[in-house]
Amino acid sequence: MKDALSLLNTVFGYDQFRSPQDQIIDTVINGGDALVLMPTGGGKSLCYQIPSLARSGCGIVISPLIALMQDQVSALRELGVRAAYLNSTLDPGQVMQVEEDLLRGELDLLYIAPERLNQERSLALLERAPIALFAIDEAHCVSQWGHDFRADYLQLSLLHQRFPAIPRIALTATADERTRAEIIQRLDLGEARQFIAGFDRPNIRYRIALKHNARQQLLGFLREEHPQDAGIVYCLSRKKVEDTAFWLQEQGFNALPYHAGLDSSIRADYQARFLREENIIMVATIAFGMGIDKPDVRFVAHLDMPKTVEAYYQETGRAGRDGDPANAWMVYGLQDVIKLRQMLDSSEGSETHKRAEQHRLNAMLGLCEITSCRRQSLLAYFGDDLEQPCGNCDTCLEPVDTFDGTEAAQKALSVVYRTGQRFGVNHLVDVLRGSEGEKIYQFDHHQLPTYGVGKDLDNNQWRSVFRQLVARGYLSVDLERFGALRLEEQCRPLLKGEERIDLRRDVKKKTARQTTRTS
Ligand code: ADP
Ligand code: ZN
Repeated sequence: MKDALSLLNTVFGYDQFRSPQDQIIDTVINGGDALVLMPTGGGKSLCYQIPSLARSGCGIVISPLIALMQDQVSALRELGVRAAYLNSTLDPGQVMQVEEDLLRGELDLLYIAPERLNQERSLALLERAPIALFAIDEAHCVSQWGHDFRADYLQLSLLHQRFPAIPRIALTATADERTRAEIIQRLDLGEARQFIAGFDRPNIRYRIALKHNARQQLLGFLREEHPQDAGIVYCLSRKKVEDTAFWLQEQGFNALPYHAGLDSSIRADYQARFLREENIIMVATIAFGMGIDKPDVRFVAHLDMPKTVEAYYQETGRAGRDGDPANAWMVYGLQDVIKLRQMLDSSEGSETHKRAEQHRLNAMLGLCEITSCRRQSLLAYFGDDLEQPCGNCDTCLEPVDTFDGTEAAQKALSVVYRTGQRFGVNHLVDVLRGSEGEKIYQFDHHQLPTYGVGKDLDNNQWRSVFRQLVARGYLSVDLERFGALRLEEQCRPLLKGEERIDLRRDVKKKTARQTTRTS
């Protein structure tokens, strides 16, 4: 058996393993199963490539993406590794050649698409061949919670049944707890060692501020911290992308719009300029970014909140690939929550799927509202623990002021209840503050016991209370009724005074001028 480190040196030309590649490789070389959760670019491929070379027989790699399969195989062949693939792009002659090489023990690695592997013909072939291991790449495709679900992945549990003696390694960059549990269950990986690592991007400074005037906030951020840098500004809609790009141009920035509605030649041109030129700001929808490998992106700004923590992590992860300091900056507000809930509600898909999406959205909101270290919370979401607060996120740099919000929350919940759960934030705040507006009298809301009991807080402070109650799931937004707030089961103990709640004190003055780089 060849030694892993010497294979790394001689075949791949690298000096040392990144932790925990070495432990993963040891586990698999010694015949154990492994579940590997590492972000894109973390170095997952070596975790099965080296054991495939070290063990006798061929490593079988199940991969859903034909294009990636072909790239990997050509790259490996250049390194002198005997690699091949089996997928629908091969003609029968080529297939026969690959099968013969496999049976004669002349392959180190064979990539195969899941639908092909599941065919009885392929399984019978594998039973006659010398096999080193099974690697299940993009293992989250087995999860029905996810977006990339592939029915063919469900059948991969039969690998364990038909080849019980052969080690399996499942790999993915999606590591939230639910997906992880589902991978383990469906692929029968209960005995596998789990490795979760590498999600931290220490050079990225995470900042999430409350939105009041998003454009001015963005402008302040750019002028002060990134006047000449390349970066990405993400927006939810195509129209907002165009408006924002145009407006930034007027402000003297080199901004370009990017979304799926633009002509593909324009998109290609803008993308090339972003990569080539120094200080382009790409204002984009999520259509931009897949496969963009520009090392010196100095900031990623979000004008709208992403739908999930995974998306936030992926998008912010495009900053600072070169390891130099970079900013992940975002503004968000109650409107984001309402808009995203609305999109979710009107989306296609089963109830279960919607519930899963809801759950993901709540996790994202939790990250926005958190008062402790953002990086710890972000990494915890992926199961990758960070022991100490990071010292490089807004909540670490400027600890958030909190206050006992029990009484305010009770007033807020009670006004929702008293008005029949039919009104949106603006009106509710009006009732609490004892406004003399027409709508108040129209509904006789000046007669309510909660009318005018909230004069101690101003408009923004009340909005902040409602936002936090929505974000934490005490209230929900009823979209059939134009954003009316409704009580959720969870608010009972709070209303009854059996629970207390700490709320963030939103500070306005700091959001336009964030912490500076040197702080
Ligand atoms: P993933 O599959 O996790 O997205 P890859 O396996 O493609 O990541 O690896 C990302 C990059 O890191 C590749 O260019 C790979 O060659 C490089 N890499 C992986 N491990 C090491 C290592 N131990 N030393 C140096 N470079 C490495
Ligand atoms: Zn921190």
